[in-house]
Amino acid sequence: MSYLLIEALSKRFGRFTALDRVDLSIERGEFVVFLGPSGCGKTTLLRAIAGLDRQDSGRIVQDGDDISQWPVAARDFGIVFQSYALFPNLSVADNIAYGLDNRRFDRSARARRVEELLQLVGLPGIQGKYPAQLSGGQQQRVALARALATAPGLLLLDEPLSALDALERVRLRGEIRALQDKLGVTTVMVTHDQEEALAVADRIVVMSHGRIEQVGTPREVYRAPATPFVADFIGRVNVLDGAVHERGRVQVGPHVLDCEQARDLSPGAAVRLYLRPEDITLLGVTDSAPNSFYAHVRKVEFLGAHVAVVMKPDRMEGVELTAQFSQNYLNGTELPPGAIVRVGVDRRHLRVIAGEG
Ligand code: ATP
Repeated sequence: MSYLLIEALSKRFGRFTALDRVDLSIERGEFVVFLGPSGCGKTTLLRAIAGLDRQDSGRIVQDGDDISQWPVAARDFGIVFQSYALFPNLSVADNIAYGLDNRRFDRSARARRVEELLQLVGLPGIQGKYPAQLSGGQQQRVALARALATAPGLLLLDEPLSALDALERVRLRGEIRALQDKLGVTTVMVTHDQEEALAVADRIVVMSHGRIEQVGTPREVYRAPATPFVADFIGRVNVLDGAVHERGRVQVGPHVLDCEQARDLSPGAAVRLYLRPEDITLLGVTDSAPNSFYAHVRKVEFLGAHVAVVMKPDRMEGVELTAQFSQNYLNGTELPPGAIVRVGVDRRHLRVIAGEG
């Protein structure tokens, strides 16, 4: 049985539906990330699991207990918020020990536990400091130690990295993932940052408008988005409209492209194709490989390790494609605006999303 089971969970704020019959199950030890744009309901879902927001209907079962109506204090979780939410007037040690049960932890056991937790988050020896003396990243590590102090069954992280600068964000997300691996604590993290979600999650729950669009591993949601929203929200994607020419082949403008996913579609059916920028390959100008066409380079964006090349495919009015090439791949090839290139697309990489077209 799943460690955390959410069934038909709904929540309204006045006339606004923040969660619309959400179903989800999370296994013990999993690291699950709720991902979606601002206002999609991910924080509301996290807060409902904690009991901080009470659902209007539906059920939450944790470790076999129906906790739907349990007060916050009776639930088994530790939580870290976006803003560090440490008590400014308490030392680091007192912040971390705040939730520890005084009956089970006498003074020395408490001190040992605080020391152990500070070791765990990589900040040994700062017991006596106060929050104002710490950097944002350090405060978030202390908040993490505090959330883990009682060894909860569930760790909830509400955008814990979004107040940090880019470098610290990447560093801390790696540390959080390593810590979670070490402790095996079931973890749910909320973020609107797709790269962060892809980097840390075992599974990503992509949300939009109070509903779950897709649940899958990072690879699944990126490579096999179930809906146009997911394709668009995670990573960059090119969208091409066309029609099935014959089974397994799609006509886009004057070009007929092999497309594995169009195998089961009837000729004539309108389809929308999704193509990742990195799935476009650069061919020799005279290469006539299948699924290749000419394009005019419109714009080149330098992105450090990569370049993004915006191009207009030959004889396709109103269509622009963005390709992404690594600098190594280009190996010095210049692609100035106006250049004519020949590009190819693997038939496995042209994705058709069911019901679209
Ligand atoms: P964000 O990243 O902006 O926090 P989110 O996906 O976490 O986005 P939620 O915080 O879950 O979104 O909020 C979902 C919607 O519910 C939002 O439109 C928000 O304005 C609304 N909402 C949340 N809390 C309340 C509240 N207490 N009262 C009224 N509306 C609320």
